[in-house]
Amino acid sequence: MDIKRIIKLLPTGRLKPMPKKNDAFTRLINALKVLPNVGPKSAQRMAYQLLQHNREGAAELVAALQQALSQVHHCSRCNTFCENSLCEICADADRDGSRLMIVHMPADVASMEAAHCHDGLYFVLMGQVSPAQGMDLNHIALEQLVARLQGSEVEEIIIATNFTAEGDATAYVLSELLKNLPYKISRLARGMPLGGELEYVDAGTLAQAVHERRLLKE
Ligand SMILES: [Zn+2]
Repeated sequence: MDIKRIIKLLPTGRLKPMPKKNDAFTRLINALKVLPNVGPKSAQRMAYQLLQHNREGAAELVAALQQALSQVHHCSRCNTFCENSLCEICADADRDGSRLMIVHMPADVASMEAAHCHDGLYFVLMGQVSPAQGMDLNHIALEQLVARLQGSEVEEIIIATNFTAEGDATAYVLSELLKNLPYKISRLARGMPLGGELEYVDAGTLAQAVHERRLLKE
């Protein structure tokens, strides 16, 4: 039977019926669009891949997501992700509590730890200020930072934001917030590549940037 005869036999002449908007496959596609940089096409490819080729992986994804949602919270001191009230670094009595490094994301803490260049504590802003989006301060955990500093033993604050427009804007907001408070304030040295995100900078460069940090305020 040739293809033209088959097409003629189809009731509407359409080879592929469109899925209904509220079916499970469409719901999965829409859910996958919550991921960063995933549009409708990528979401569709992911949904197909999971259901057609990797149902085991999909089940593990669901289980891991559910576990993370119920177990992962913010550290009550540094605001990073952790499963107890304090993260491992904050709970470590050997860390130097007088030096606090402020970073954007948990990944930046991991980069710093891998570079072995900071034995103090961290505070994680969980975001950055964007000049392109009107410098909205709600994207960073400023209130938690102020609460963290109150009554603490911190003497020096190292601003370790990215060397991007957002990182510079965030560093500016932090230095304004802290300028009348009794802390020595420094920022990572400009030895970092311009437009550099800490996450992608090699450990040697990162360690050098911390070592040669610029003093903003005594
Ligand atoms: Zn912590």
